[in-house]
Amino acid sequence: MAVQAQATEHINAYTIALQQYDRAVAYLDLPAGIKNFLRYPKRELTVNFPVRMDNGDINIFTGYRVHHNTVLGPSKGGIRYAPQVDLDEVRALAMWMTWKCALVNLPYGGAKGGVICDPLDMSQSELERLTRRYATEISLFISPHGDIPAPDMGTNAQTMAWIMDTYSMTVGYSVPAIVTGKPLNVGGSQGRTEATGRGVVICMDEALRRSGRSRTSEIRMAIQGFGNVGMYAAKHAYDLGYKVIAVSDVTGGYLNEHGLDVDDVMAYTATSHHHQLAGYKNAQRISNAELLALDCDVLAPCALENQITIENAADVKAFLIVEGANGPTTPEADDILTAKGIEVVPDVLANAGGVTVSYFEWVQGLQSFFWDVEEVNRQLRRVLIRAYDDVIRTRDQFEVDMRTAAQITAIKRVGDATFTRGIYP
Ligand code: GLU
Repeated sequence: MAVQAQATEHINAYTIALQQYDRAVAYLDLPAGIKNFLRYPKRELTVNFPVRMDNGDINIFTGYRVHHNTVLGPSKGGIRYAPQVDLDEVRALAMWMTWKCALVNLPYGGAKGGVICDPLDMSQSELERLTRRYATEISLFISPHGDIPAPDMGTNAQTMAWIMDTYSMTVGYSVPAIVTGKPLNVGGSQGRTEATGRGVVICMDEALRRSGRSRTSEIRMAIQGFGNVGMYAAKHAYDLGYKVIAVSDVTGGYLNEHGLDVDDVMAYTATSHHHQLAGYKNAQRISNAELLALDCDVLAPCALENQITIENAADVKAFLIVEGANGPTTPEADDILTAKGIEVVPDVLANAGGVTVSYFEWVQGLQSFFWDVEEVNRQLRRVLIRAYDDVIRTRDQFEVDMRTAAQITAIKRVGDATFTRGIYP
């Protein structure tokens, strides 16, 4: 039986994840059965559960947790709260986590979770009750040595603290290693919040250095998304002297041809409605579509899946794309970008900074021995640059684009480990 992607009206992330996989695995000399095995999610859990709302109503929510693969170790991956979450999206994100962890050599498999909800429409106490109930429902699937959640879109360090507390209350003692991305005061790691954005910039820096264009103040960047990934990518790039000319969120794009003052933008969103950019004055308003097509050097999509598609890929003017989001580029768009000579540092490499520091947090928690931020950032850089080198080596060996090279590298590691472990029984 083949795993069927659910048909949906929008571009299906899981179909795309499988297309990318098929493209990459074709280069590998692995037994056909192992190639087929790696296409499947290992296990999937759907939960429907009640939450008492502030007005006394009881609403039913649907959530998921998918383990794609656990050959290299416990499965790892975030939990997303968003209205458009569905099982196929979670499957795709879980599969990408498998390749991401393998690529950066973390001893983890891939997983992802999600709840269909609009966190912007819910109070803190509603979110706490939803989180505690969802954590209880998926406690069949999560454990500190089996599957370790983390934040993703719509969730944050506070969400992780509630999950940790819920799990700990059930077992009767504190289990900080059940989640990563926790607040510092309950066992979080220095540098975790900023890590994904920092990793995006480390990868951008490396790509520019390798192409001989490392004069930072001349590099003009456009960043789609100003959440945890986009905001810290903007901040880190700005601190290094790059010119961040545009940022965006669901309220639209904000452009300053001379370079935005990112500290000023951050100060604005720190107190704005829902921390959104709406009403920010020191920039010109543009649309999200205009941001993607801006005349700039580097484009960093740091928001959602399926943003660069067959419809708009030809309009991209940047010479480098660094993917802070998971799955922002469709396979058809990839072909167009490759034909235009645009380099793409793919998601599984460019946004792997988050899960890398998650791993550091997990290790620190298990050892009850905590590192300073300099140590975290030094190790993060080391891990990402080593993975970057591995991707370049694979790219040159197979003469493929960076995404295919990253997936070949990762799939080979998981495939070889599967072969070494053997098929049980
Ligand atoms: N949600 C993040 C990602 O997509 C982080 C996952 C983690 O830290 O486990 O990579």
